[in-house]
Amino acid sequence: MKVLVINAGSSSLKYQLYNMMDESVLASGRVERIGMDSSIVTHESANKPEVRDVREILDHVTAVKRVIDILVHPDFGVITSMSEIDAVGHRVVHGGEAFKHSVIVTQEVKAEIKRLFDLAPLHNPAHMMGINAVETNMPNVPQVVVFDTAFHQTMPETSYLYPIPKVLYRRHKIRRYGFHGTSHAYVSGEAARFLGKPIESLKMVSCHIGNGASCAAIVGGKTLDTSMGMTPLEGLMMGTRSGDIDPAIVPFVINKEELTLSEVNSMLNKHSGMQAISGLSSDMREIDEAMNAGDANAKLAFDMFVYRLRKYIGAYAAAMNGIDVLLFTAGIGENSASVRRAVCEGITFLGLELDDALNTERKKTVREISKPDSRVKVLVVPTNEELLIARDTYKLTNV
Ligand code: AMP
Repeated sequence: MKVLVINAGSSSLKYQLYNMMDESVLASGRVERIGMDSSIVTHESANKPEVRDVREILDHVTAVKRVIDILVHPDFGVITSMSEIDAVGHRVVHGGEAFKHSVIVTQEVKAEIKRLFDLAPLHNPAHMMGINAVETNMPNVPQVVVFDTAFHQTMPETSYLYPIPKVLYRRHKIRRYGFHGTSHAYVSGEAARFLGKPIESLKMVSCHIGNGASCAAIVGGKTLDTSMGMTPLEGLMMGTRSGDIDPAIVPFVINKEELTLSEVNSMLNKHSGMQAISGLSSDMREIDEAMNAGDANAKLAFDMFVYRLRKYIGAYAAAMNGIDVLLFTAGIGENSASVRRAVCEGITFLGLELDDALNTERKKTVREISKPDSRVKVLVVPTNEELLIARDTYKLTNV
């Protein structure tokens, strides 16, 4: 059985074709600059030449058609006909309260995703274009949607409600949803498997730290709390996002700087975080390099990032009344030994001891980086959201 995984953005479409018999990736690629003058298509697979072409692709329907043409192409392709694609799985950012699991796409599901456009105006409309484009090109192939928010739907009211007038929740569904759920679900499952323990027996803090960053308190495989909120702006300090700030700063800045709401929104999402504090870059590699060369602002950005993450780990250990596993994933979590060391150095009171040699080892697999007698296990777990989407799609369509 072969599953095509699609992540559709407003002007891009990323894809992977999986063989679910061994969960191998047969091919992957992306279409960029959809609707612009010169769209770029890149495609690669294990044994065939790569593709990189520039042409006009005006919409998502044409983008999906181009992807299928390449997948079945005698020189570059990996399948002989479109009928070999048994199902398509889509990443969808916002599932609101309606979707607690992945589901097969129906007219009702599409209508519900549409109702959620308000909550994710930049993402859900683009995902819908991807779903419709597949429907047009492959009308008989079942489609599945996998939501970034779904894994966190186990949060109790105490975690997901904000202490603001309740009418806002009732009228507009203003509450914490959390994001990166597919990643937190995947890595927490992999961590339990690696430790050879039932996930039901474990209390974990999962740190997904990349350009966007969130952590989750996961008890028995279910989210108790997570740092992103109604939108992906809340929580940890990120590449260009502020994370938690005093909400009263917003009206204060609007007043003092004569900014519009939309300018403040853009400031908090695009011009804050590591970028703002370092005055240099949103990229942890550059921050790390500059810090080691003596740049004081880069060091401040690094220290603030680490300090804010440590506070969340401590809060979640308290929220769970203990912690068995601390895990790191995504670009920074998987690759930055210096961030992991700095975070762990400050929370040894939890019963956690890092092994410096293991921490600096470069490996692409799940690994333990705590000392053998550390009560709390510290793991690095490479994330793979696409594989989880492929697995859910396979499970739901292969009945
Ligand atoms: P992601 O959004 O998951 O792709 O992660 C992007 C972030 O990971 C950026 O801040 C990168 O600087 C960071 N990153 C990737 N590789 C490394 C590395 N070797 N050391 C430190 N940070 C890294």
